[in-house]
Amino acid sequence: MSSPDQETPAAPSFGDLGLPQPLLAALTEVGYETPSPIQAATIPALLSGRDVLGTAQTGTGKTAAFALPVLSHLDLKLARPQALVLAPTRELAIQVAEAFQRYAVQMPGFQVLPIYGGQGYGPQLHALRRGVHVVVGTPGRIIDHLERGSLDLSALRALVLDEADEMLRMGFIDDVEAVLQKTPPQRQVALFSATMPPPIRRIAQTYLRDPVEVTIAAKTTTSANIRQRYWFVSGLHKLDALTRILEAEPYDAMIVFARTKAATEELANKLQARGVAAAAINGDMQQQQRERTIQQLKDGRLDVLVATDVAARGLDVERISHVLNYDIPYDTESYVHRIGRTGRAGRSGEAILFVTPREKGMLRAIERATRQPIEEMRLPTVQAVNDRRVARFFERIGGALQAGGLEEYRALVDRYVAEHEVAAEDVAAALARLLQGDVPLLLEARDEPAPRERPAREPRAFEERPRRGRDDGEFEPRPPRAPKPPREAPQPGMETYRVEVGHVHGVKPGNIVGAIANEAGLEARYIGRIDIHEDHSILDLPAGMPPEIMGVLQKAWVVGQQLRISRWDGSHAPSPNAPPARGRFRPTGTRPAPRGPKPHRKGPPRPRS
Ligand code: AMP
Repeated sequence: MSSPDQETPAAPSFGDLGLPQPLLAALTEVGYETPSPIQAATIPALLSGRDVLGTAQTGTGKTAAFALPVLSHLDLKLARPQALVLAPTRELAIQVAEAFQRYAVQMPGFQVLPIYGGQGYGPQLHALRRGVHVVVGTPGRIIDHLERGSLDLSALRALVLDEADEMLRMGFIDDVEAVLQKTPPQRQVALFSATMPPPIRRIAQTYLRDPVEVTIAAKTTTSANIRQRYWFVSGLHKLDALTRILEAEPYDAMIVFARTKAATEELANKLQARGVAAAAINGDMQQQQRERTIQQLKDGRLDVLVATDVAARGLDVERISHVLNYDIPYDTESYVHRIGRTGRAGRSGEAILFVTPREKGMLRAIERATRQPIEEMRLPTVQAVNDRRVARFFERIGGALQAGGLEEYRALVDRYVAEHEVAAEDVAAALARLLQGDVPLLLEARDEPAPRERPAREPRAFEERPRRGRDDGEFEPRPPRAPKPPREAPQPGMETYRVEVGHVHGVKPGNIVGAIANEAGLEARYIGRIDIHEDHSILDLPAGMPPEIMGVLQKAWVVGQQLRISRWDGSHAPSPNAPPARGRFRPTGTRPAPRGPKPHRKGPPRPRS
């Protein structure tokens, strides 16, 4: 058991874990400060050649926990698959492959290939023939390649089963076992699963050799004087939500937790630009500078500190009334440490957690571990924000009146009124407008996000699947985008659609998949290729989408935008059938009623990936 006041022992650094230099350099580049608990436990074990059985949720940093040791062991001169990662869905396979690429930026010549169903065999065969070091794939498609003889696993040294319980739930367990049997006997195996149902235990007992067991589910306690709430990220961007909370929620001082150093700086800058007295603290800062910043928070010269977990360790400032988890923590232990920064010296405190759809599992894990429910909160309404803005505006007027020294200005106003025959109220209004500048004083009602269509209720079976993806990506440095090749015709039984959300909105394929899967009840594996363009995206969905599902998808929100889905006519100009932004959708009736199979609400019994 640990309590919020008990400091954790000094965490190891990535350097302590025995990772080679090119990977350490890449980690510095991506901005990870310290290993997450699962990384600290898993990396040394995998580096020493042991098998690992890890119980860990998405969001704990488990991708890096297996990707870094795999990369450490590669022989880049040998262009044959040396590691295979099995993942339940194509989007997870793509994300894991992207993570490998990010960590291998300092390893010239490194090749990773995602392999999944729904994509033509041609490019996969071509890439396999050219030679790759790591393959990340969905079980069904990997089996297909093994049966065709196009995937050679004879040089394989490591096999990773990611989200094993999810593969079980999706009916892939036989395929997983078949792959295990086709790998060389001396390979290393790492199995990760959020839960350990008996069939997964049996796989572990049969195929893992004396594994190191790692469980990231610490029992923790939180103090009763801290009220805990979460906001389910939907309809508004996290930054806008945070700004709204800062405007309308009475607080004294606030710590905002973000995951990376870069994120703390970027967020602090954005808050400053919005008029908040904010600063970042992170592990890059000299001790003296850190102390100076904390002193400013104590004195009231700063109201918001944006911090990483490491930088906030041991922080004890009575004024901190709120802790806001902008990025969800990796584990329940860090959550408890984070929120323990408020409610100091017997005061009460407030903890707010932002949870994206794919992080629901972590929210439940925190509730289970702390044995306290976390209540869902609504964001302050436009009305509440406007009330506060008006109150502050009045306070400024009152302050100026009280301060005096207005004679000179009063004379000018009198003269203006007399010369132009306008009312003094109009002059006052014009001056207020000048003072305010171009930014409107009040939010408009249309800034209110649509209420969540299915509020707090038990998730349906398919929603329980932890969705993967990088954090909402708003702080990820974006590499220059290569022009997109022309889009291939959809697979038989699929149709191409356009949604009005693109790079400019910060969308990632996972966001679109998540929204469509959740809102339309369509399983993620029925969602085909997604191409993200500047201000829109093009994707393939099962042909014959019923109008009621189209209606739902037109209104669904993703990264603060409505999807406004329409059938794609092959051009990149907005479809004339796309409903107007925010407006009510009027069916056009110009298209014949779609025919063909309905999208599957539940998949067939044994899916192929
Ligand atoms: P995962 O559980 O692998 O999906 O990782 C969840 C998120 O945490 C991803 O956005 C990673 O980029 C991020 N992440 C993983 N390890 C670290 C770390 N040591 N420090 C900061 N962020 C991390």
